[in-house]
Amino acid sequence: MLYGALEAGGTKMVLAVMNDLGEPLESISVPTRTPSETMPEMIAFFSGKGITSLGIGSFGPLDLNPSSPGYGSVTESPKLSWRHFPLRQAFADALRIPVAIDTDVNAAALAEYCLGAARRKKSCLYVTVGTGIGGGLIIHGMPVHGLMHPEIGHILLPPHPDDPVPDGFCPYHRHCLEGLASGPAVEKRWGLSGRDLPADHPAWQLEAHYLAQLCVNAIMAFSPEMIIFGGGIMQQKHLFPLIRIETLSLLNGYIPESLFGDGMSSYIVEPGLGTASGITGAYLLTRGR
Ligand code: ZN
Repeated sequence: MLYGALEAGGTKMVLAVMNDLGEPLESISVPTRTPSETMPEMIAFFSGKGITSLGIGSFGPLDLNPSSPGYGSVTESPKLSWRHFPLRQAFADALRIPVAIDTDVNAAALAEYCLGAARRKKSCLYVTVGTGIGGGLIIHGMPVHGLMHPEIGHILLPPHPDDPVPDGFCPYHRHCLEGLASGPAVEKRWGLSGRDLPADHPAWQLEAHYLAQLCVNAIMAFSPEMIIFGGGIMQQKHLFPLIRIETLSLLNGYIPESLFGDGMSSYIVEPGLGTASGITGAYLLTRGR
């Protein structure tokens, strides 16, 4: 059997045809433009390939209530042309196959849980830090949904006293995580992109402070057995030790360090699947696990 997988991102769409073993047989990526431009390209790729179902891990927010008329639609996205676009239904109508959908970060978290860094754990939090910040939470094998889906990038944080822009840059909130620590926030605050900031620049200590606040809040709220960080900003590998140290500092002994197994370096980690978490998760959404 063959399966379609789509990692729908804000800047590019990654499409793949996968076999029973989860191996990609064919894969392309196309830029994310408007639905009227990008949907025909994607439908043309999947058509005639013999796929029996399609899994989508998408940017959001998404309507993930199966009983809602808008199930699988993009909702209040800052990407205006995709706002209220019925992503799941459009593929179901065009391809006439079952289509499963979840957030891109829930899909990536699922892949890390099943096949990646957290495959021996019962829960994990996957966080991407890039153009935006999002997080997917898996508890006992299931992506967490509720009122909608977690939007962990928009949790509110106390700004650091030395932050030159303590309100951050989110159009919705003052000092939320995404507004303080996303790639565009780093670039606007310092005038240089993350790629161009040297490793000893104070930007990184500040970034680690905000991401450590996320870790502490997640540990206190959900008690995940592992926190995995991916995304463009996290390609700066020197951030990982800074986040681990800052997390322990902010926990201030409230959670015994011995609970973190082999230590923080095995608790706050890179994705085991590298950059393939998203597309692998999209496949798992439709393939089962
Ligand atoms: Zn926000």
